[in-house]
Amino acid sequence: MVECHDELFLLDAGTGLSNIRNYRSIISKYDTIHLILSHYHLDHTIGIIYLDPFVRDKKIKIYGPGRMAYPETTSYYMHALLRREFFSRCIDDFSDDVQIIDFPAESFRAGNTKITVKEQQHSSPSFRIVLDDKLIYATDTTFDPGVWNELSGTLLLHECWDCHQTISDRHTSLWQLKYQLPLNKFDKVLLLHQNPAWDVSDYEFIEKSIAGTNLILAKDGMQLSV
Ligand SMILES: [Zn+2]
Ligand SMILES: [Zn+2]
Repeated sequence: MVECHDELFLLDAGTGLSNIRNYRSIISKYDTIHLILSHYHLDHTIGIIYLDPFVRDKKIKIYGPGRMAYPETTSYYMHALLRREFFSRCIDDFSDDVQIIDFPAESFRAGNTKITVKEQQHSSPSFRIVLDDKLIYATDTTFDPGVWNELSGTLLLHECWDCHQTISDRHTSLWQLKYQLPLNKFDKVLLLHQNPAWDVSDYEFIEKSIAGTNLILAKDGMQLSV
């Protein structure tokens, strides 16, 4: 959840969106909720069902890659995900004003906020999402060192799927972030999309590996100012 220029953004809608019940006071400040999807994999979309009771009086704008990278539109995929066989409310029933929009270009505006999106390499096309050239959200992507020589920002939210020296064509490892990312280009680098297979010893290893760097393990409820 990101508050930017008096607007509220949600970046992806995984099961973490169930925490939205703890942020009613923030949601109540806004008439519009902007949900930006990096791609449609279930771990990034299934949590949309948790939005339902909190947004009935809001305008909902859902943005996704759609025809920029897929054969069908974001509207098609959202309606397929929330077919009546799977959930009692169709996406159009979430409020009186639901708009589902394919990314219109690699740079567009959502309210007063500049949004930049760029396709990344993953098992299905996923998109890096940048808000106002400050906050960079890069999940479900192989690590591409070339990208990070050009990009900088205040806060980087980057996926971290493998905690050891793994090179994958779908995901990024801690080793790549620690040794191949120019960490000094960012104030903080938050590690997200943590692997559900990690156990306590993996977390201990990661905490030890990132000590003294600007890499931070993201945790539920964490709040940061940019
Ligand atoms: Zn994912
Ligand atoms: Zn994915």
